[in-house]
Amino acid sequence: MRRYSIQTKIVLPFLILFACVTIFVPLLTVELFAWKYSEQFTRETQGWLDTIVETGFIREPSEKIKKAYSVEIMVFGSDYTLNDSTLVGLSDTEQDWANLAEKMRLREVKDHLREASNIPITHDVVLAGKPYKVFYLSLPPERFYCLLRPMEKIAEAKRTLTWYMLGIGVLVMALIAFISYRIGKNLTNPIKVLVDSTARVATGDLDEQCEIKTHDEIGDLAAAFNQMTRDLKASRDQLIQAERLATAGKMSASFAHEIRNPLSSMRMLAQMLLQKPEMSPEMSAGKHQQSVRYILEEIERIDTIVKGLMDFARPASLDLKQQRITPILQTVLSLMEANLAHHNIHLVLDVLPETPEIQFDSDKLKQASMNVVLNAMEAMPQGGVLRVSTFTENDSVCIKVKDTGIGIPAADLEHLFEPFFTRKPRGTGLGLANVKRILEEHGGTVEIDSIPDEGTEVLLRLPVDASV
Ligand code: ADP
Ligand code: MG
Repeated sequence: MRRYSIQTKIVLPFLILFACVTIFVPLLTVELFAWKYSEQFTRETQGWLDTIVETGFIREPSEKIKKAYSVEIMVFGSDYTLNDSTLVGLSDTEQDWANLAEKMRLREVKDHLREASNIPITHDVVLAGKPYKVFYLSLPPERFYCLLRPMEKIAEAKRTLTWYMLGIGVLVMALIAFISYRIGKNLTNPIKVLVDSTARVATGDLDEQCEIKTHDEIGDLAAAFNQMTRDLKASRDQLIQAERLATAGKMSASFAHEIRNPLSSMRMLAQMLLQKPEMSPEMSAGKHQQSVRYILEEIERIDTIVKGLMDFARPASLDLKQQRITPILQTVLSLMEANLAHHNIHLVLDVLPETPEIQFDSDKLKQASMNVVLNAMEAMPQGGVLRVSTFTENDSVCIKVKDTGIGIPAADLEHLFEPFFTRKPRGTGLGLANVKRILEEHGGTVEIDSIPDEGTEVLLRLPVDASV
């Protein structure tokens, strides 16, 4: 089956329709008009012939009749020879009597006149290069009186009219072709853009967005397509994230196990080393005491990372209890109080004591809130204001932690929850990954909004009616 473009499908029917209307219909009209005119013309000339006969004008010289009616007269004998003619300029072959009789179809006319003498007969002939309509009259004995009416002017008029009509037809067709081409293009261009976008999306480029802004069905289609691509990208990213988390979780669990045991031995040995009498500052080995202290500090740091990994990898086993979040939050903040004050951070607490009781694991929520507050604290090295508030919104209990710290660059926002994503020289990049994990285990969400150099707002949302 042939493939026609939409453009062709629009232009072609228009062209065919208008070809009919602008070319065939006028030509048909000309033909119809010519036919009607010819009928009238025949009747009129037949009337002249009758008058010529009835008034006896026929006995006058042919030249006189020629002048009176602007016609040519030819008279043939019964043997078809030309007896009289007003027509000049006949060619040599036309002058030959047999040829002329043949051309004038005298034999046929003779038969006709014999059989139906009162039914007029006419023929179209071309003589001396000009068209004529011939009207026949039988003259006794068996002679033919032929009245030739010149058709040249009428044929000429018909030709001119036909050319005019064709000219107008072609012009109108060109105009229609142009207009329908434009209409087709207007319609198909956005479709082409859409097809190109679809092809790019099909190759995996999910950042592709179709730039069609028309307010019609194609515009709606493009908007739906863009929405679909965005959804597809979001779900692909989620899938990648989930895969990463799963892999990171598995790796973390095995690493953490392997590292923790030798690490505790190392810590124990280093502590024992510190307690040796030779290590006291007065003894010769005393100068190594500071190095051993550094070793112990670094071991503590590795231990924090390993603990983070284990938290992250630990399978979800929630110890759910129906309770309020405010006491939990207050515990976390009182633990951090000294630290906050030390960093010159002013704490503003805006908690609702009466938030509804909800089901959650208090240790895990403590851990999540602690991570968020720690991040806020680390974002304000020069001090600032930390605002912690709780409220209910749309069947959720919310904890909002807002700082006036360094903020987060827009490009980082989408990576914050990825395990090991960190911008801190001594960070683990596991804090927010854990927060998200804990909130999701509770059927809740985490949202982060930030303006660089102004501050960050972290919103933890826990459902009132959690079906975890
Ligand atoms: P870590 O704290 O170990 O770096 P997190 O997962 O807790 O890992 O945080 C990841 C990154 O998110 C941080 O390195 C930091 O760049 C950014 N971040 C998180 N919270 C804040 C905040 N309140 N202000 C500024 N940046 C933040
Ligand atoms: Mg952190």
